[in-house]
Amino acid sequence: MRERSEHGPMVKRHPQRLPQGLAVAAAILLTGCSTTPGAAGDDFTADGRSTVAQLTSRFESLSANHDWLEETVYVYPGADDLGIRAWRTKHRGEALWILAGIHGEEPAGPNAIAASLASVAQLAASGVPVVLIPLCNPKAYRSNWRYPNTADRDWRKGGYSVGDAEYLLPDLEHGTQPRAAAPPGPDTRALTEYVLRLAKVYPPRLVLDLHEDELSTEGGYIYSQGGDATGNPVGAEVIRLLQESGIPIRRSGRTRFDEPIVDGVISRNDKGLPIRDGSIDELLASTEVFVDGARVPGPAARTVIVVETPAFAGSRFDLRVAAQGTVVQNVGGLWRLSAQPR
Ligand SMILES: [Zn+2]
Repeated sequence: MRERSEHGPMVKRHPQRLPQGLAVAAAILLTGCSTTPGAAGDDFTADGRSTVAQLTSRFESLSANHDWLEETVYVYPGADDLGIRAWRTKHRGEALWILAGIHGEEPAGPNAIAASLASVAQLAASGVPVVLIPLCNPKAYRSNWRYPNTADRDWRKGGYSVGDAEYLLPDLEHGTQPRAAAPPGPDTRALTEYVLRLAKVYPPRLVLDLHEDELSTEGGYIYSQGGDATGNPVGAEVIRLLQESGIPIRRSGRTRFDEPIVDGVISRNDKGLPIRDGSIDELLASTEVFVDGARVPGPAARTVIVVETPAFAGSRFDLRVAAQGTVVQNVGGLWRLSAQPR
């Protein structure tokens, strides 16, 4: 789900843009959710999600049984078992990137990857370079928080995203300086710097970032970013797969940020411009980034698809995992589609 710093500098600057009724409903929903932190080691599993340890052991099967390398991107101080881990194929080159679990209260993506890992391994075994960061925010996931630093899901209360890349991205006015002075947290810095570093040796051709939207009761949808944001055949196929899985899809209308939805796909903001939300997705799509104050070429992914399944209260976790799983199981077809000339 999108929010302030990854979705809307506009919302950040003009919070009154949020429809009042929706903002109030959101505040009630967000504060009314079960966010009891629990002691360290107490995993939230009430919605049916696997624990961090269960997911990690599943992902580790890649490095144990296949031609994969495992790396620790970040370890939380005082919690050795809580690290951001990444897996990548030994073979490098133009790559498929799969990210999930940026927001801890959106568990379907990480669980779907764990359940359908064989499809990713199979594609990798066929020679396709892959970068997989399947649980980007394990600290929040463990407690069903959204952000790593607070139980509060309202970004205005100080929560930050592990994927906030504004300090690396050009400002929205002139593009002559970074949009933010610094990353909001050490985990954010570690993750975004890792992504930039890996993108040089695994240039992203196709990025899939699995999210959920707990405010969307009307259905799922996707964001499409990158050089081929509009009319992208991968986006159309992801929507078809989600629909086939049985979850409802929002095919038209506008998001809460007033972005137009076209056949389930959002590729433009409320002003008709490309989506520039400050997220790790924008980072992977960006043709220019700032590193140590200097403007340098960015990862420039052609296709970045952010999948959003509807995760409102009462929605069925198994159906959301199945929907995301359908996308993961079809990474081979999506990869081939991402090569098609426009
Ligand atoms: Zn999200």
